[in-house]
Amino acid sequence: MEMLVHICCAPCATYTIQKLRNDGFDPTGFFYNPNIHPFTEYRRRLETLQQYADAVELDVVYKDEYMLEDFIKKILDVEDRCSICYHIRLQEAARQASDNGFSAFTTTLLISPYQKHEMIKDVAKTLASEYGVDFYYQDFREGYNMTFQLCRDMGLYRQPYCGCIFSEKERYYRKLVTE
Ligand code: SF4
Repeated sequence: MEMLVHICCAPCATYTIQKLRNDGFDPTGFFYNPNIHPFTEYRRRLETLQQYADAVELDVVYKDEYMLEDFIKKILDVEDRCSICYHIRLQEAARQASDNGFSAFTTTLLISPYQKHEMIKDVAKTLASEYGVDFYYQDFREGYNMTFQLCRDMGLYRQPYCGCIFSEKERYYRKLVTE
């Protein structure tokens, strides 16, 4: 079965693509992640995916649009920015899958224990019915720890924060001066 796999980054793709292939699927990758900031980090993650895709002979569709201002406007001052972020990215995946005759779509976000797993599932299911394409759900988190070794073996860059500038702050910001 041909499946479109939204790929958030190469490290999350390593186990997920391997597992899907082992399960008999024929995955094609889809990169659309305007949530990655700043631009130099975005480029680095995109190029790392190209490196990975070449190594495992994976076809990837790159929707290389960096709409930083638009993305920030949409997630600023909302109660749960991750929900909007998942929707922005997975909507494009559902659209691509539907327009190009894929049987289903899924996402590598489902491998991360740091993502909001149930929320991703709910957003994707809603989009699936909206776009008339199946969402393939699998809990890939069982393979998360294996991604560390797979990245080391392939020499892949592994990012230290989720993606948006807010997650970068949460990862690194420490007050230099205590009041
Ligand atoms: S923390 Fe991650 S999932 Fe949430 S809005 Fe930022 S980039 Fe998106």
